[in-house]
Amino acid sequence: MAHPVSVEAFAQMVMKNNRGYHREELIQTLQATLRDKENGAVCMICGAPIWAAGSAITGTYLCFTCTTGEADDSDDYEITETERRPASVKQNNARKQRRKKAKKRVQRNKGTL
Ligand SMILES: [Zn+2]
Repeated sequence: MAHPVSVEAFAQMVMKNNRGYHREELIQTLQATLRDKENGAVCMICGAPIWAAGSAITGTYLCFTCTTGEADDSDDYEITETERRPASVKQNNARKQRRKKAKKRVQRNKGTL
């Protein structure tokens, strides 16, 4: 399962990692997408419930897997209505970094075989 974050917290993360977003607009888009999801919006490709956080950013209604090509969303976030701060955004990012590095190492090793 993706980590649930509030629309505000997610907007904060997006703004931190990307330039050129307007906070108010971003929050409005996130809220509208979340509302659509709750009203039953489904992935254009496979028909699964949409990944609201990702769909709001890309502007296309897709599920997590069709957006990212990954089946495992446990390292990612999904926006929710409830105001609950992510327990450890920093920790999760660190874990992601480590995993990326591990992946690279594996690829390097493969190259030498
Ligand atoms: Zn899909």
